[in-house]
Amino acid sequence: MADVQMADAETFTFQADINQLLSLIINTFYSNKEIFLRELISNSSDALDKIRFESLTDKSKLDAQPELFIMIVPDKVNKTLSIIDSGIGMTKADLVNNLGTIARSGTKEFMEALQAGADVSMIGQFGVGFYSAYLVAERVIVTTKHNDDEQYIWESQAGGFFTVTRDVDGEQLGRGTKITLFLKEDQLEYLEERKIKDLVKKHSEFISYPIYLWTEKTTEKEISDDEDDEPKKEEEGAIEEIDEWKETKSKKKKIKEVYHEWELINKQKPIWLRKPEEITKEEYAAFYMSLTNDWEEHLAVKHFSVEGQLEFKAILFVPKRAPFDLFDTRKKMNNIKLYVRRVFIMDNCEELIPDYLGFVKGVVDSDDLPLNISREMLQQNKILKVIRKILAKKCIEMFNEIAENKEDYNKFYEAFSKNLKLSINEDSQNRAKLADLLRYHSTKSGDELTSLKDYVTRMKEGQKDIYYITGESKKAVKNSPFLERLKQKGYEVLYMVDAIDEYAIGQLKEYDGKKLVSATKEGLKLDDDSEEEKQKKEEKKKSFENLCKIIKDILGDKVEKVVVSDRIVDSPCCLVTGEYGWTANMERIMKAQALRDNSMGGYMSSKKTMEINPDNGVMEELRKRAEADKNDKSVMDLVLLLFETALLTSGFSLEEPNTFAARIHMMLKLGLSIDEEETCGEDADMPALEEDGAEESKMEEVD
Ligand code: ADP
Repeated sequence: MADVQMADAETFTFQADINQLLSLIINTFYSNKEIFLRELISNSSDALDKIRFESLTDKSKLDAQPELFIMIVPDKVNKTLSIIDSGIGMTKADLVNNLGTIARSGTKEFMEALQAGADVSMIGQFGVGFYSAYLVAERVIVTTKHNDDEQYIWESQAGGFFTVTRDVDGEQLGRGTKITLFLKEDQLEYLEERKIKDLVKKHSEFISYPIYLWTEKTTEKEISDDEDDEPKKEEEGAIEEIDEWKETKSKKKKIKEVYHEWELINKQKPIWLRKPEEITKEEYAAFYMSLTNDWEEHLAVKHFSVEGQLEFKAILFVPKRAPFDLFDTRKKMNNIKLYVRRVFIMDNCEELIPDYLGFVKGVVDSDDLPLNISREMLQQNKILKVIRKILAKKCIEMFNEIAENKEDYNKFYEAFSKNLKLSINEDSQNRAKLADLLRYHSTKSGDELTSLKDYVTRMKEGQKDIYYITGESKKAVKNSPFLERLKQKGYEVLYMVDAIDEYAIGQLKEYDGKKLVSATKEGLKLDDDSEEEKQKKEEKKKSFENLCKIIKDILGDKVEKVVVSDRIVDSPCCLVTGEYGWTANMERIMKAQALRDNSMGGYMSSKKTMEINPDNGVMEELRKRAEADKNDKSVMDLVLLLFETALLTSGFSLEEPNTFAARIHMMLKLGLSIDEEETCGEDADMPALEEDGAEESKMEEVD
């Protein structure tokens, strides 16, 4: 049939990534080929969902084919397996775009995953499930009819191209799609009824449309026959038998007859309607996997029903891993399927769950929403708002349940901590509860993460605030000069080294009535010294006031002010930022955002205050020199060098690394007692400054 139509077939080449994917599927050995059936059935189910949804507002959409079903037809003679659905179908343009010329964002990612050893069963997660047909078929024909177009045939044996032909003479579908797989010689087991039934049970049990299998049955049929088979009268002792036989059979004969019939092979009622206590872990896992195409079980599940003024049932799942496109902003994540009284409505209802919970999967079946609800109505809907609130609450409960098992929680946190941190911003109502779920490394947590709650239990007597430091990595903040005094006092400091921490903490502000205080910002007060010590400090501060002025004069606009520090113990100085401006870390993050609005930089960018350490030998020496001669050139050089090193140790970047390098080289020469004149013009090889990483290559000598 297809051959006849080849005459007016249009040929298209597969998009490059898809083509590569197809060769990978065809030429690589995968043991898990059976998943193709699940993928095709799942596509059918999606197509049925779409037409059912359209029909809620326009009944006539179902006219061409009122029934919604999936049918599977094995044909042993032709060695084909067909999957037929009465879903939405595809127009010619859909066929060309969806099955070959436009690659999904997941195509590349999936190939990379495969090459890294991922299982082919993950295909559905990457949005290219259709191509799994080529795991078992050497040729695939898709016949499809959409309400808005004629019936078309797509056909391909892979190999770089596919054809699309108008189907004039073929059997008309009314509406829907028929996918016919010409099975490879070694894949004929997929024509066996038993095998198909097992696969549907295993992978597609929870599909909410009837799945019929075209089965072969045999019956024994009776036909009248007077002569045949009658026991011979002559046989001794057979009289009784004969009588009996005559009675029951009254001269009839049985023959075997083969016939076909549709057999319904999925009979489950929706799992969310059943009682939680009657559902096994395996059943939840099977449901989760069929709902999400995940190849792994869920990490956690929450199954509940709400009764009273508002009634709905829901099952929510947390996956074990984040999907590859969790923060792809082009794609709104929403993985909650909305049903109204058992009828699927939609799976991308944004109002159903807050954005930060976009990784939670599941179903909600409402008794109260109207069946023919439109997207616009959903936005205003009060019932939906209440459902949303309850879902968020239940999710948080579920996360707390995960937290009861440390290993599980670590997994969960690794995958979804960014979402939790976003939640602080997004969900002010649940902020306190969400803050309980946050975890950080700290000066005292070792390799483990600590919660804010645990931090509070460890707070020292008299400690009023919760201290934290933000930065690029744990390594970068661990030895920061800002922590010196806090550590000396035994105060624990949380390391906030995720770019998003800076935003989250800005919103959180306090926990359990305790202020969250940045170790790198102005206004860090650690005044639990004795009167005597305070007195001493004051005196010392006074004696350094003059030096502060001199330094400010030298640095000019580079700093807002110069003060004597209370937070550093070992380092000579550090640069802190204003309580409400950006930290060094925030400045780094903002600079890295290519598309940010530059005008923000002006007033938000960090206002730096230099804090000097009066107990540091360098500062003491500097003070002496400065007091002896205000215009001492070495004082100026030292101050600039101290400022630049402080930029680095405080987490800022250098605006002019070369000037800084030149200053270091000069110091080196001084240290090595090398005469300027002698080395002039030569290149001195310098090792890179390892810690700050600002100077990666050899520094050049500057005179
Ligand atoms: P996914 O289903 O994850 O989007 P697939 O590669 O499985 O990716 O399918 C690509 C697209 O082809 C689908 O998004 C859908 O638009 C279309 N499609 C596939 N199978 C069917 C079908 N049975 N009925 C209607 N459209 C289908």
